Amino acid sequence: MSERTLETDVVIVGAGPAGLIGALALADAGLTVALVAPPAPPADHRTTALLSGSVEAIDRLGAWTGIEKDAAPLRTMRLVDGTRRLVRAPEIAFHASELGLEAFGYNVANGVLTERLGAAVATRADRIARIETAATDVALTESRATVTAEDGTVVTARLAVGADGRQSMVREAAGISVKTWRYPQTALVTNLQHSQPHFDTSTEFHTETGPFTLVPLGRGRSSLVCVERPAEAERLSALDDGALGAELERRSRSILGALTPTGPRQTWPMTGLRADTLARRRAALVGEAGHAFPPIGAQGLNLGIRDVVALAELVRRARLRGDDVGGEALTARYQSARRADVATRTFGVDLLNRSLLTDFLPVQIGRTVMLQLARDVGPIRKLLMREGLRPRLFQSV
Ligand SMILES: Cc1cc2nc3c(=O)[nH]c(=O)nc-3n(C[C@H](O)[C@H](O)[C@H](O)COP(=O)(O)OP(=O)(O)OC[C@H]3O[C@@H](n4cnc5c(N)ncnc54)[C@H](O)[C@@H]3O)c2cc1C
Repeated sequence: MSERTLETDVVIVGAGPAGLIGALALADAGLTVALVAPPAPPADHRTTALLSGSVEAIDRLGAWTGIEKDAAPLRTMRLVDGTRRLVRAPEIAFHASELGLEAFGYNVANGVLTERLGAAVATRADRIARIETAATDVALTESRATVTAEDGTVVTARLAVGADGRQSMVREAAGISVKTWRYPQTALVTNLQHSQPHFDTSTEFHTETGPFTLVPLGRGRSSLVCVERPAEAERLSALDDGALGAELERRSRSILGALTPTGPRQTWPMTGLRADTLARRRAALVGEAGHAFPPIGAQGLNLGIRDVVALAELVRRARLRGDDVGGEALTARYQSARRADVATRTFGVDLLNRSLLTDFLPVQIGRTVMLQLARDVGPIRKLLMREGLRPRLFQSV
């Protein structure tokens, strides 16, 4: 194994969507970047609903045109109470046109997203050095971050960005403790062809076991996220195409007509995670290295993209001032800029998910009243739509 040394402003560990967008944003902020990650990330058959703030961010980085042609617009978002409980929430539909928008966002396959972001990273080879193996060691001191890769490359930088997902090595090296928890749920994901059009409408049924969501993925096609008890998710996953299609059509009340599963199926156990802080000792966490929760309301990666954009902006300003781009002032500013957004999303999604799982009547009544207000009271409705897309907290960074 040959040893190569490299010195950059920033070293990023992990090339999932958060790491790739981070590399682009930091390079465009004028920094030199090393991106340490294996060339082929683990197979990911999910899709991501990217909300408009995320689409704008990716567009500003010049990477959206490559993605757009394979992305499906989401013009209406519908919530349906699919429980059989005594107290049920009213059906509610939000239209992007109410906010004067073409679409709330776009749904895109994760494989397409990372491939196209990777292609955009390759166009900045003068500023982004890709080290295409896993990081095996991260060392952080007061003055330096050092990442050693499996191929022997040693990168030293002023800031290490942990975009290395839930088991983050950067987080551990920074001594950041993390709270994790499990839900009695597993998500089954696959893609579907259907006989009826989706009219660019994403539909989230709220059931007693979790959300059951159909998101447009192109003409006559949608992606499925079916959150179920773990044994039931595995049972569904093992059904043949005909039986699974029939079962999903029943659960979706035939709103898209006959359903035919296409492509691979994957199951994702539902867990939650929250790091005690997003930054310490020359390390900053972005995406699921810092926070994770169940897929309700398409919040996960959108929150991660806001981390990345905020971090790049703070680093850009620090660089312009001639400050240390990984120093204590920067890490403190980053943590303070992201704390409220991360805390409120994690809390809100957790609360909504748990409110589906419990039979406790006052909770059911509370959820019903909340959704009724969102349906009937214009200002609350608009506030919810805007906050879902692009929280004010983020704009103030
Ligand atoms: C079923 C489901 C549906 C979802 N749908 C949506 C949605 O519609 N909208 C939305 O916004 N969010 C959604 N999410 C959440 C979203 O998928 C995640 O937030 C997102 O994938 C996290 O991206 P990331 O880059 O932070 O982490 P990851 O995608 O986990 O990437 C981390 C990367 O780091 C790499 N890595 C780990 N360790 C090392 C190491 N030592 N060295 C180098 N590399 C390393 C890994 O291989 C991986 O490639 C969904 C989640 C689930 C489970």
